[in-house]
Amino acid sequence: MTGSTKRLHIDREMCEAHALCIEIAPEIFELPDDDIATCDEHPPEALWSKAHSAASACPRQAISITEDVPVASPRSPKGP
Ligand code: SF4
Repeated sequence: MTGSTKRLHIDREMCEAHALCIEIAPEIFELPDDDIATCDEHPPEALWSKAHSAASACPRQAISITEDVPVASPRSPKGP
């Protein structure tokens, strides 16, 4: 079990369909008809290094990787 969940995201406003991400990681990224890249937001663990490479290579910096860290539930104060 992992403590956090990474998520890959493409900013549709930023993407200009350069397709570098698809060249680097065709397993993750696609360029559908509307000319804005889409991606698998939760690719397999083995493909994350490619996801990072694509994010670095994107000339628009449209690819971001976020990490959802589970928030610990607040401890309920012991009342009387
Ligand atoms: S490299 Fe960046 S700008 Fe180009 S298609 Fe991929 S996400 Fe869009």
